[in-house]
Amino acid sequence: MTTPTVPLKPQATPQPAPVPLLDINRQNQPLRDEILAAITEVVDSGAFLKGPAVRQLEAEVAQMCGVDHAVGCASGSDALLVALMALEIGPGDEVILPSFTFFATAGAVSRLGATPVFADILPDTFNLDPADVARRVTRATKAIIPVHLFGQSADMDAINAIAADNGLTVIEDAAQAIGATYQGHPIGSLGRMGCISFYPTKNLGGMGDGGMITTNDPELADRLRVFCDHGQEPRYYHHFVGLNSRLDTIQAAALRVKVAKLAGYAEARTRHAARYDAAFDNSAIGAVLTTPIEAQGCPSVWNQYTVRVAEGRRDSLQHWLTERKIGSAIYYPVPLHLQKCFANLGYRRGDLPNTERAADEVLSLPIFPELTHEEQGRVIDAVSAYAAFATVRRAA
Ligand SMILES: *Cc1c(COP(=O)(O)O)cnc(C)c1O
Repeated sequence: MTTPTVPLKPQATPQPAPVPLLDINRQNQPLRDEILAAITEVVDSGAFLKGPAVRQLEAEVAQMCGVDHAVGCASGSDALLVALMALEIGPGDEVILPSFTFFATAGAVSRLGATPVFADILPDTFNLDPADVARRVTRATKAIIPVHLFGQSADMDAINAIAADNGLTVIEDAAQAIGATYQGHPIGSLGRMGCISFYPTKNLGGMGDGGMITTNDPELADRLRVFCDHGQEPRYYHHFVGLNSRLDTIQAAALRVKVAKLAGYAEARTRHAARYDAAFDNSAIGAVLTTPIEAQGCPSVWNQYTVRVAEGRRDSLQHWLTERKIGSAIYYPVPLHLQKCFANLGYRRGDLPNTERAADEVLSLPIFPELTHEEQGRVIDAVSAYAAFATVRRAA
């Protein structure tokens, strides 16, 4: 009989908890009772569509965006689609937009049979380069869709001037930027229409999909409503082939609980951004990454804090962070002009150099409002340690 060997117990090293890129529960759980009460009220009312909470949220968002009208719909993607439909954009029409954005911006244009025309971005803000937009205007151009990427407004004066010179319509893709301003004016009020998303990770995140279109034009607002309801007005009398895209009352009721908190969330994001900026403002880190830049008069609401990592080190920094259980993400790794589904448009690598470089260099770090001081400290320490490591490697 052999003596049973006592298995060697590995020394338990204390593992710090992961730092998530985003933790939606930390925002929603403290509001759980309020949200559930709001949802319960809708369930009890039976008014699942077009309930009072929808109109109330529309009024609140319109006010926040400094416009007279806001029309709820099923998602930010649908907001873009319906905005373009209301302008009767279709086959033969061109719409200028960035390639460095979420797919939906271009998907909406393509879905309607129109042609997305991709323009390059400015390297410092990641937003549309007005000079490149101007170069791409043709007789077929109908609209421009500037995207307020990562929470910062695009250069709207320059874009609106190009639109005015050429008789084009401007639709803001404000999905990532609700609450942001441009030269003191709220986003959503800077073009003919603004498209907002309530996707859970956006600054005003719902309990599922939701979207809204803002506008100052009362007739256009009516038209948008009709388009969102199969083009019928009144019921069973169809003026256009619209679609069924509505903001559920349950969704609106839940979102209203969070509307009041939005300014506080943005303040917390801004505080986190300032702390990153200060912590990364030294030569060792500066040699490895560039912190995000806010253009004059374009304060960001920081949907993302996105750094640039030079010299092919982006993936290695991300790997370094992942090993230390720190969340990060690449928004966006493949520019839209190089996506397979747009191959027929004939773009090639090299066509949009600033966009392609950004796709290779960007990395977004945790910045959600509820990120703790200690967690952010760990992100900063990990980035600093990486910079020291990279500097030593370069010196060697
Ligand atoms: C999220 C997003 C959209 C789409 O919004 P959904 O509500 O997810 O459909 C459109 N454009 C941009 C830039 C976005 O970030």
